[in-house]
Amino acid sequence: MSAKKTSPTPSDCYVFCIANQKGGVGKTTTAINLATALSQLKKKVLLIDLDPQGNATMGSGIDKNNCERSVYQVLIGENTVEEARQRSETGGYDVLCANRHLSGAEIDLVEMESRELRLKNCLAPVLDDYDFVLIDCPPTLSLLTLNGLACAHGVIIPMQCEYFALEGLSDLVNTIKRVYRNINPELQLIGLLRVMFDRRVTLQQQVSEQIKQHFGDRVFETAIPRNVRLAEAPSHGMPGVVYDKKSRGAKAYIKFGSELIERLSAKS
Ligand code: ATP
Ligand code: MG
Repeated sequence: MSAKKTSPTPSDCYVFCIANQKGGVGKTTTAINLATALSQLKKKVLLIDLDPQGNATMGSGIDKNNCERSVYQVLIGENTVEEARQRSETGGYDVLCANRHLSGAEIDLVEMESRELRLKNCLAPVLDDYDFVLIDCPPTLSLLTLNGLACAHGVIIPMQCEYFALEGLSDLVNTIKRVYRNINPELQLIGLLRVMFDRRVTLQQQVSEQIKQHFGDRVFETAIPRNVRLAEAPSHGMPGVVYDKKSRGAKAYIKFGSELIERLSAKS
């Protein structure tokens, strides 16, 4: 990956994947709360739920089972993004929702022309409407994730500072490099976000240091603490940042949103 700036000018839209093929590492929690933080910082945000589990949809306060126009309909060409996007009233951003039907997309897409570029092509007409598009990826390196990576300017990797975290990371970084070389020369690793972080745990500190040694300033300064309010929020159909804005978790995600904006403006 090159270090040169390939992301758009500040007036344009940044498209970021929140990805890690490891399950349960905090992708969806990050996608929902970053979307909320950015919208509270006066940015226009579209959150794309690219996971058939539909957790980002539910956590944004939208019932995935009543969603007739989802990202699946968009990918197979039945609906445009303009027709399918919905508003997260609790989060203050737009959502392209997902539910279990999306698992069929893997099969439908295989037969289609430019199958890894479907999302990119569908998204192009609405990019001017947003400052940020965040894509919540599934815990796989599948065709869905590939569609996300193919249309993104960058990847944000949430990770827990645990022993096995480093192992999976190299697969993901290699995938990002492959996509960069073969499909999307704009793709960059934006940064690693330490989540569910507890500085008091020695192993977490050690792994955090290792990650910093390896990835340098690509590790975000902000770390998201383990905070039960973030975990409770989805069952209330609310982002943690809104559910309990005074909680440590909410404050950390707001800080992360500011750090991201600062980094991007420093680069441009
Ligand atoms: P999947 O791979 O299944 O899509 P994911 O990577 O999207 O999972 P999440 O669903 O965001 O991970 O988080 C996994 C679990 O951890 C959830 O129950 C979530 O509420 C909880 N969680 C995430 N971040 C935190 C945090 N900072 N503090 C406490 N709990 C958290
Ligand atoms: Mg998820």
